[in-house]
Amino acid sequence: MTDSITSLIHHPYQPPAGFAAPQPGVFKASTVFFPNVAAMREFDWKDKTAYTYGLHGTPTTYMLEERLCVLEGGRQCLLVPSGLAAIATVALALLKSGDEVLIPDNAYGPSKALAESELMHWGITHRYFDPMNPADLADKITSNTKLVWLEAAGSVTLEFPDLCEQVRQCKAAGVYCALDNTWGAGLAFKPFDLVPGTQQPLSVDISIHALTKYPSGGGDVLMGSVITQDESLHMKLKLCHMRLGLGVGANDAELVLRSLPSMTLRYRAHDETTRELALWCEQRHEFAQVLHPALLNSPGHIYWQTLCRNDAGGAAGLFSVIFKPEFSQAQVDVFCNALQLFKIGYSWGGPISLVVPYELANMRPTWPSYLQRGILVRFSIGLESSSDLQADLSKALSTLR
Ligand SMILES: *Cc1c(COP(=O)(O)O)cnc(C)c1O
Repeated sequence: MTDSITSLIHHPYQPPAGFAAPQPGVFKASTVFFPNVAAMREFDWKDKTAYTYGLHGTPTTYMLEERLCVLEGGRQCLLVPSGLAAIATVALALLKSGDEVLIPDNAYGPSKALAESELMHWGITHRYFDPMNPADLADKITSNTKLVWLEAAGSVTLEFPDLCEQVRQCKAAGVYCALDNTWGAGLAFKPFDLVPGTQQPLSVDISIHALTKYPSGGGDVLMGSVITQDESLHMKLKLCHMRLGLGVGANDAELVLRSLPSMTLRYRAHDETTRELALWCEQRHEFAQVLHPALLNSPGHIYWQTLCRNDAGGAAGLFSVIFKPEFSQAQVDVFCNALQLFKIGYSWGGPISLVVPYELANMRPTWPSYLQRGILVRFSIGLESSSDLQADLSKALSTLR
């Protein structure tokens, strides 16, 4: 007879096997038990047919990894605590002192900040290239270049690059190309697949995804993924990932698993409302330019059209406007504050629409020739009704008169 305190810890009851329900179970662990010492010595932490330690995976995280591979068309997946951690993991796994990384000028801001601080301190150099001029990327690839980041559409300014050509150049030069696929989310286009209607492969080496956005869909989870197709490249990333001690919480993994089944529907709904509002903004006299890749006049529209199949709902839920130069920052701030349904806040992919004014001059040292001058505001469209959002925009614009 053991003491009752011990019985509470070592209880013999095992629930019956075979429980089946819509949601997978949430398995939590740091410690994982081995059946015996020999098994402990023998089990390889990298082998996903078994379990060794919570950080190396549980049924919950393995399940999420497999589903994310399906989403993006890759073969292997690593989970990390944020989209930015996914970007950092790729850099730390692949770059060493003396190497150079090339980053598009319109990349996600904190990715540039990582290159400008930690990577620089570690002797890793970086250069920015013009995402809309493939010749500029070709010129900047040298024997020191080990990694090229790609992003489509670009953060904040949403210009759409000739991604196929950029990938082709990376392949020709034998450098790793990593795509920040947060915007496309595995739905607008497939980063490891053929370009629609052609035999031309897109086939990036690595796709990172801020699961924080559409896969979460709630504005309440931070997570990232690093997806690959090549086993040896995956192993390189996985070893670094393990040594850095990166892992995700089971409850967060559960939330993403819960949201994935509705992701295609949500993405389509975000997309539809966003296009309506972007088109409406194009008719307004306050704006010098509306940036949304599905708009005919938006930079890189033709590349978006080639790559993103319209019927799949291929343009996400973001658009930006550039106010005419006669509007001051103070006026634009009043406009943002006057919005009621649109909240002021970073990130996107959740049910609530968001607005952020950006200081583009600080983000893009040379103002791109394809952008009008003026103050830029980015909208992230949630799941509210399009007409309510339009009325909100209209009312807030009236403050500018
Ligand atoms: C949000 C975002 C990230 C970072 O994701 P976090 O989970 O917030 O760290 C990376 N890239 C892009 C394009 C993003 O929009």
